[in-house]
Amino acid sequence: MARYIGPVCRLCRREGMKLFLKGARCYSEKCAIEKRNFPPGQHGKDRKPKIVGYGLQLREKQKAKRYYGVPEVQFRNLFEKAVRQKGVTGENLLGMLERRLDNVVFKIGFGTSRAMSRQLVRHGHIAVNGKKVDIPSYLVRPNDVVEVREKSRENSAIQGALEATAHLPAPNWIEVDRQNLKARLLTSPKREDLVQIKLEEQLIVELYSK
Ligand code: SF4
Repeated sequence: MARYIGPVCRLCRREGMKLFLKGARCYSEKCAIEKRNFPPGQHGKDRKPKIVGYGLQLREKQKAKRYYGVPEVQFRNLFEKAVRQKGVTGENLLGMLERRLDNVVFKIGFGTSRAMSRQLVRHGHIAVNGKKVDIPSYLVRPNDVVEVREKSRENSAIQGALEATAHLPAPNWIEVDRQNLKARLLTSPKREDLVQIKLEEQLIVELYSK
């Protein structure tokens, strides 16, 4: 399925929670969830659907996909990979979503949102272990060094993002060197380090296991 290109605040309103898709705006009072936390559409305010069973599982999957900005096919492929790994499938899936290069670039603070970070990767501004990587779904591994490429160090968008995200703490699984525009993955993220939204990954596992 094609990537959604409509207004992203609608996605948060559909899920009834902040998905942090718009950078600094998400932390401000301009956030649509702060102002109108009801589903989008003409009758959104009147709708009070009681979601159970399959509906709950589907919403949880949609929430995760939208939060990470991952299309259905890629999401499904990651799930299949998670099933083949040792350990708890849901946690494996979240771990891989977090280790996607676009997410890591966002967590470091080179981009103010995952969408911007994805763009930075696609446009060739990012290197992993000294080599350009322009694939947002690339999975970063422990000890990999992610950095802004030499030619992009003065890029105003990246500099602006670094300034805007300076107050946000780096996750404890990434060692960030903002001065030199680089970071190293210390370890694979653990469940307790993951996602800033409430997500029940077990429901996603149940959905795909039918
Ligand atoms: Fe929009 Fe961000 Fe608020 Fe979501 S969290 S509604 S993307 S401003």
